Amino acid sequence: MKKDFRNRLTDFLIIIINVSFVLALFFGEFFYIKNANARTRESNRQTFINTNVSLGSMTNNYLIGESHLCRSWAYYLNNESKAGRTKTMDEAIDFISESIIDNTVMAHIIYKNGDNSLKGYSTKARKDTNDNTVDYTSLKEVFASASEGMNISSSFMNPINISKSLAFYTEVKLVDPNDNTKQVDAYLLRVVLLNNLREEWTFPSGSFDRLEVAIVDRDGKYILSGNSFANESFYEYYKSYNATTSSGVEEFKNKIRTGSGYLTMNDYSHEKCFIAYSQLNSIEDWTILTYIPLSDINDVHNDWLVIAIIGFGLAALFIFDLVVLLFLNKNLKSTAKIADNANKAKTDFLSTMSHDIRTPMNAIVGLTTIARQDPTNSPATQDALNKIELASNHLLTLINDILDISKVESGKLAFNPLTFSITETFENLINISQPMIKSKHIDFAFYKHDIKYEWLYADKLRLSQIFTNILSNALKYTNENGKVQLGIKELDSEKEGYTRLVYIVKDNGIGMSPEFLQKLYEPFSRATDSRVNSIQGTGLGLAIVKQMVTLMEGDIECQSELGVGTTFTVTLDLQIAEKPQEEVSSNEENLDFSHINVLVTEDNDINWEIISTLLEMNGIKSERATNGKEALELMEDENSKGRFDLIFMDIQMPVMNGLDATREIRKFNKDIPIIAMTADAFSENVTECLEAGMNGHIAKPIDMKLVLAEIRKIKK
Ligand code: ATP
Ligand code: MG
Repeated sequence: MKKDFRNRLTDFLIIIINVSFVLALFFGEFFYIKNANARTRESNRQTFINTNVSLGSMTNNYLIGESHLCRSWAYYLNNESKAGRTKTMDEAIDFISESIIDNTVMAHIIYKNGDNSLKGYSTKARKDTNDNTVDYTSLKEVFASASEGMNISSSFMNPINISKSLAFYTEVKLVDPNDNTKQVDAYLLRVVLLNNLREEWTFPSGSFDRLEVAIVDRDGKYILSGNSFANESFYEYYKSYNATTSSGVEEFKNKIRTGSGYLTMNDYSHEKCFIAYSQLNSIEDWTILTYIPLSDINDVHNDWLVIAIIGFGLAALFIFDLVVLLFLNKNLKSTAKIADNANKAKTDFLSTMSHDIRTPMNAIVGLTTIARQDPTNSPATQDALNKIELASNHLLTLINDILDISKVESGKLAFNPLTFSITETFENLINISQPMIKSKHIDFAFYKHDIKYEWLYADKLRLSQIFTNILSNALKYTNENGKVQLGIKELDSEKEGYTRLVYIVKDNGIGMSPEFLQKLYEPFSRATDSRVNSIQGTGLGLAIVKQMVTLMEGDIECQSELGVGTTFTVTLDLQIAEKPQEEVSSNEENLDFSHINVLVTEDNDINWEIISTLLEMNGIKSERATNGKEALELMEDENSKGRFDLIFMDIQMPVMNGLDATREIRKFNKDIPIIAMTADAFSENVTECLEAGMNGHIAKPIDMKLVLAEIRKIKK
């Protein structure tokens, strides 16, 4: 339930993180673009203003240049006059005509007559005629000087070619046409096409396609204007399309007349436009204006479609990934659950198998032990019984090995440390091996060096299992009359309070090939050798040894050569222990157990028969309860108080199982030792028994040594 909630929480968190990421992506993109747009707008505006200023400079240069050309003509004519060689109108016109290179430019010379008529001649004749007279009488405004520094006209229609033009003018002295001894004043005009000025301008390439230019005078009157400048004057234009007061217009005028800058206003189509303005240096009354619709300045070309596609594409990718992730997660979870279930099924299977094999094994082993005690047995019967015992022991080892390997694989192998003597352990090991040593006439030697700490604290049974496996292999895989050496020594350990035990077994047996050595520690691996096949074994021994050595943080090494021999070296750091205070004399075989009465709770008749007989053979009385409930009732019965010294309790029984019975008994009797005697031999089963209140656990088939050890404890 808890796990389910945690899984859901994880999924929820993954979703939240992903969604937040997508939102952050969108907002990030949005703000980035917004910022970038603001920067682009600002840069557009600045470029536009700079364009206005540079158009102003270009205009200035042009006007100054043209004005100088006009003055240079006058300078010549006036100098001639000063030198007494005053030119006539014809001479002056001829001189100027010769100095004009640009075909679009012409000069006009106008007599300043007292009667206010302004008539004269042009360097060019009217179109398709020989008439080059000009009359400026009705064009007097041309000579209303625009600036102190420069005499320049406002734009006007050139009477010769009827084109919008500008005129630069200055005064010259000419011979009086009526009296050639006198001089008269005249205006010399250099007349240029307004378009010539337009052609001087260059614009920044690419941008501002809709840019338009106007030049206005002090009153806002257009000297020159683009299409978007409506009305006669710029100020009228402003008034017509922008709601404003008269003081507002004045303010607007003052702004434009002085200095440079920019403003926004409505244009003739009532759209917002952006105007940059700057005063001309050469003619301070003139201002150059540049116009652009505001949208062109602000229009940042974001390809929203592309941005949207990328944004949504990314979001879709995230969502897709999220869905796939959650789906995979779900699959993984269900796979893990299946694996979990399979593992559980395997454990259940092994546990059931172990239980179901141990039950008949108990009968076989027990009954064989009983039968062997019969003095009337013929030698043949005795021999047969011995062989049954050997075979059953082998079968039992096999079951134990399979159980061990599955425990190791599922990480359930637990160690039960106790204080023991290392010397005694090796004496026992050698004793057990004697029958094989003798039967194969092996030349066996045992070396012991530097055993500084005899008493150690470790799982003695598991250690013996390691040592026995390796030594029995050496004996098994060495031919008759071969040689096996067993050596132990202690070295200093790096761990405080520990000693390093080195265990070496060397044989000159059949040895192993380098290929086989690669998989030596794999379960069920045996060398493919006819000699090995003929020897009993399953290939589990070393797999278990390796796992146990690893769990004990030790080391195992093997050196072997085919046909030469093998050396196994195991190194283990073992905790040093104190010598126990009371040492139980091992010579207790003939103790008197006649006063002891044991309650055996056992539903199976054969098992009951075996245990009761075995107990009886050791002089111990026993009574039977056929299930947990019977045992409980017997214990509850006031009359049977103190009748039993110990209870052996089977676990799987009808009516009431051993665990429940123990729990019930413990409610009123905490003292009587209750020992499980069961075919449930897994470590979980042992833990269950101890948790229910039992004092120990003996696995079936029953090992009488363990039974007697429990009985001895009562006697103490
Ligand atoms: P069991 O599970 O009963 O011990 P086993 O002895 O065949 O069976 P292991 O102890 O795991 O299995 O050894 C695996 C194999 O390694 C053996 O079958 C044998 O081929 C090889 N082997 C182990 N020890 C020696 C040795 N001292 N000399 C030669 N071969 C050996
Ligand atoms: Mg072996």
